Amino acid sequence: MTRSGSDGPLESYITAARPRFEQMLAEMVEVPSISMDPSHQADMRRMATMAVQLLKNQGAQARIVETKGNPIVVGGWSTGRNRPTVTIYNHLDVQPAQEPEWRQSPFAFRNEDGLYRGRGATDDKGPALTAMLAARYAVDQGVPINIQFLWELEEEIGSPNFAMALAPEHGIPIPDSVVVSDTIWIAKGRPAMPYGLRGLLGARLSLRTGEVDAHSGVTGGAARNPLTELCALAHACVDAKTGRVKIPGFYDEVVPPTKAEVNSFLASGFQVKRFMEAYRFQTLRTMQAEDVLKRIWAAPTFEVHGLVGGYSGPGVKTVVPGCGELKVSMRLVPNQRPEQIFRLFKRFVAKQNSRIIVEPEGMLQPFRGAFDGPYAEAAKRAVKAGFGKEPAFIREGGSIGAVSILQRAWHVPILFMGLSLPEHGYHAPNEYFDWGQASGGMRTFAAYFKELAGLK
Ligand SMILES: [Zn+2]
Repeated sequence: MTRSGSDGPLESYITAARPRFEQMLAEMVEVPSISMDPSHQADMRRMATMAVQLLKNQGAQARIVETKGNPIVVGGWSTGRNRPTVTIYNHLDVQPAQEPEWRQSPFAFRNEDGLYRGRGATDDKGPALTAMLAARYAVDQGVPINIQFLWELEEEIGSPNFAMALAPEHGIPIPDSVVVSDTIWIAKGRPAMPYGLRGLLGARLSLRTGEVDAHSGVTGGAARNPLTELCALAHACVDAKTGRVKIPGFYDEVVPPTKAEVNSFLASGFQVKRFMEAYRFQTLRTMQAEDVLKRIWAAPTFEVHGLVGGYSGPGVKTVVPGCGELKVSMRLVPNQRPEQIFRLFKRFVAKQNSRIIVEPEGMLQPFRGAFDGPYAEAAKRAVKAGFGKEPAFIREGGSIGAVSILQRAWHVPILFMGLSLPEHGYHAPNEYFDWGQASGGMRTFAAYFKELAGLK
């Protein structure tokens, strides 16, 4: 497929690069680099070693930076000291893939005529390879720019060792700007560039009222039921119908989006119907586009993810559980601070039920970047060159811990050029990536590298 006014050498390069891209993606997807699962330790190492080799095979320099956890892969092309440097961030760890809905083995790569199936294909191995191949092209063309890659292997567990890897002794040079390529568009054919992310605060609440489970016929009525009490706590924290969080002080630091921001959200082509289809929802809290967008991008949440304990097999077993656990998290928005919210939450839980033990499970700061200025303008032009349309500036409801870490470590502009689509099954069964997004992504990155070279 050629575009009008397209760059001939780039189009030939992309066509020629396709088999290489598919081969590399297959190799990467077939490594089950599940950072959340300790039994995959060896796969994390294998993934890092393979990534270094893939970079070297493309003529880039590459090495492993060790951390207390999984290693980080660093590589790229240095073409000249006084040239601008951009760092592209991706991650090579993946979500677990135990959902029963998988129609194939999640770590057996399948190429269905440009549709690339397998866990990690879109999040985030496909986009990583896309950027790398575009960089190779830019370097081959003599574009005066230094391009570095930073490939993390602990993104899906909240980047616990990423800050340490960026410490000066590891020799990762500070770039002039960063591109994070790990975000999702709103709809196919409508490029989107987020400028903000929600933060995250996870917590585990445990309650023990007995040493073992007891029989409800013999003890029920006098026995305290930890699962019921944890349900009561969840109810005290959040209004199940509206989603409104009831923890005192929770909303104090929230900065609501401006009218202009909301208008830019609405200009993204978002449709409630498509949103429901993409995520296979049967019902939502609201059907109004503006309300949905404010809720998913610019408002905090409180979610219950799991209630553990008692009996969950077939039928009913009449136990009063001895203990229970509630797994929760809160999405946070600017200017909420996870540490502060955790203090509020802990105090609130203690007041509600003094036997419940609260343990934090990861904190990520919310992020708000710039959406105007030379980098944003350059990115707009690059996306237009890559996909034929200027991107909509939106926010992202998810968290990328690495982003706030990068910002604190380097204090340089951070832009988001994600290539994933809602239907790609991000963090869901039957994940895939596709050649349309990969080839458009290569055009975009190639154009962006050229733009950056001309910026200063
Ligand atoms: Zn990701």
